[in-house]
Amino acid sequence: MSHADLTTIQPVELLDALKSYPFLAPYHLTFCGDQDGGVPRYRSTYTICGTIEQNPLCSKICQDAVEEAVHRAIGGNRPVVFRCHAGLLNFAVPFKAIDIPFTCIIGGGVREKDIDLAHMESLAKSDNVDAFALLEELENLPDVSEDELAEVARKVQELVPSLLGKNLHSLIFEKTMQRLSAITGVSNGIDTARSDMDVMGILSETLGILFDIAKIAVLLPDGSNTFSMTGLWGLEKDLGTMPAAKAQAIFPRKQQNNVTTLDEECKAFFPDIDARHATCIRFATSEETLGILVIFDVVLTPRDELMVQLIAGRASARLLRIREEQKQSLENAQSTRLMAMFSSLSLAGSKEELNERILGMAADLVSASCGSLMFIDESGSTLTIQSALGMNMQLAQSMVVQVGSGIAGKVAASGHPLLVNDIEKDKRIGIPNRPRFKTKSFVSIPIKLRQDIVGVLNLSDKKNQKIFTEADLKLLSTFADHASIMIERALSIERADVLEQLSITDHLTGLYNRRFLKRRMEEELARSIRQNLNLTVMLIDLDNFKIYNDLCGHLAGDRALKKLSRILTDAARQMDVVTRYGGEEFCIVLPGTSKKESIFVAERIRREIEAEEFPHEENLPQGRLTASVGVASFPEDGNTEAILLKAADVALYRAKSEGRNRVVIAGISHGDEDHPGRLKSVHNKG
Ligand code: GH3
Ligand code: MG
Ligand code: MG
Repeated sequence: MSHADLTTIQPVELLDALKSYPFLAPYHLTFCGDQDGGVPRYRSTYTICGTIEQNPLCSKICQDAVEEAVHRAIGGNRPVVFRCHAGLLNFAVPFKAIDIPFTCIIGGGVREKDIDLAHMESLAKSDNVDAFALLEELENLPDVSEDELAEVARKVQELVPSLLGKNLHSLIFEKTMQRLSAITGVSNGIDTARSDMDVMGILSETLGILFDIAKIAVLLPDGSNTFSMTGLWGLEKDLGTMPAAKAQAIFPRKQQNNVTTLDEECKAFFPDIDARHATCIRFATSEETLGILVIFDVVLTPRDELMVQLIAGRASARLLRIREEQKQSLENAQSTRLMAMFSSLSLAGSKEELNERILGMAADLVSASCGSLMFIDESGSTLTIQSALGMNMQLAQSMVVQVGSGIAGKVAASGHPLLVNDIEKDKRIGIPNRPRFKTKSFVSIPIKLRQDIVGVLNLSDKKNQKIFTEADLKLLSTFADHASIMIERALSIERADVLEQLSITDHLTGLYNRRFLKRRMEEELARSIRQNLNLTVMLIDLDNFKIYNDLCGHLAGDRALKKLSRILTDAARQMDVVTRYGGEEFCIVLPGTSKKESIFVAERIRREIEAEEFPHEENLPQGRLTASVGVASFPEDGNTEAILLKAADVALYRAKSEGRNRVVIAGISHGDEDHPGRLKSVHNKG
């Protein structure tokens, strides 16, 4: 746009100025210049007779009538009133001006008071048109007499030179100032708009009113390679979509200017809109188009265009800001969501539950309906599925992937995530899509503990058949980083559990060991003292086990010890603590059991051992593998772990010395009436 464009009076401005005179209000005004040969300019928007001009019968013949009249007017330098083919009245007013590139104003769109019906009839016959429809249109037009029209034309001729003098300039200046101030006012509205559509709404309303625009639409990118088109002013709301490439093509590649006009191309770009002309305003950053405002069937003067650009620049800035704010709030929402997820992960009770939650949350984050969480096994060469979503778990567990092969195997080997949009076309994969996947897009992410890759998270089948995006990948990577901390924690708890378990149990029998016994007895005694409950402890020692070992071998001895541990565990209740106290010596703690009650338990155990068959036991001195039992109880025999065990040990010693295969109860005297025979008792001296 040159400087001259902005200072030169534009034809449309002169026409607008003329139209502001009430006596010209009923008329359609247009103009033509020397070089136009009588052809009215701005035909697309300023027609001579408005609606009727669309009628095919008028086009060529009307042109001829106008041309003839324009020639007469310019030739004679006087206003000419003429009648068009359809019988409408028009005028042509010549004038001369240095800085205006046109020489004749044409007015029309009115009819004579009396419609020439005979003429109409002949028109209908000769041109095969619907004379009644034409008649109806004609009747709706304002009517004048030929003399009145001649007077109007004379006034126009008188008015133009004065308008072209200082008058018009000040009129235009005034109008420009009005528009500028309106635009400035609207800028504040734009600056506080909350959404793209808000911005566009304010913009279209302003433009619609200021520039008297009939139809406005907006094209906004909808995030899936298309622009959605929405009617804002004088159009239907939902105008469908346009491919992004087509929307971009509205603006020629090299064009810097953000306003462009479409004439012939208008129909091609907007086939569904009844318009012959479009002015498109682009809102864009250097990288992308944020939106395009399209205004139809209006001619903007260079001054108007400059104002539109001014307001569009403001709108662009706001659109960009809104986009950034939306991105920011999305990120905020995502991080809040991630935080909630992490805290829920920390509540997982077991490793299995943790894996399940991790997979579920990851799938949720990116709307995947299928997925698996795989871990590398101890050998480091294979991956197995530990948690599966959208597939049969049994089947999933049977699938083993070699590290380095297959999709997950490659991710595990390289440590790099993989985002695939089309599994069939991706050169990195190049394998046909397996039928169990509905869509061809998936994402696979390595799970790392510090530097080590320990597993792979796979997700597929995004809901709504969509494809996974770079944003999904980024979100998942962040999630996987945090999830791996939870995995590491679960692993170390598991390891500690195993170690702890190892240190308190006996390797051969799986029973708790002496160290654990000490701890448990202290706890149980403290509770018994607090709650005033009984507690009994039993020491069970196999008789002549050295001989059994010597006769049958150490392995048979081990098997006998395992058998014994099973007998003891079966005899004990849930709350009793069965431990391996030493080599062939076992201990049972019976919380809540009194001395009296324990006698029966001890005797039953002794009998069961006696009755149990052990290989080659017949070679033992007594012909059977038996055990002796020493029993002591709280509170009678002591109130500490050490004293009670000592008392039980003394009782056991007595059982041995009195002939083995018997139960001796601390504190019950020898030859007790209730338990004749094998049952003996000693007094605790410790
Ligand atoms: P007593 O009736 O006096 O208890 O005689 P005993 O032979 O059982 O007692 P002693 O303490 O002399 O010998 C205990 C034997 O138990 C010695 C050892 O061979 C055996 N023994 C201890 N621990 C194990 C074990 O873990 N496995 C096997 N096979 N034998 C064990
Ligand atoms: Mg022993
Ligand atoms: Mg023994």
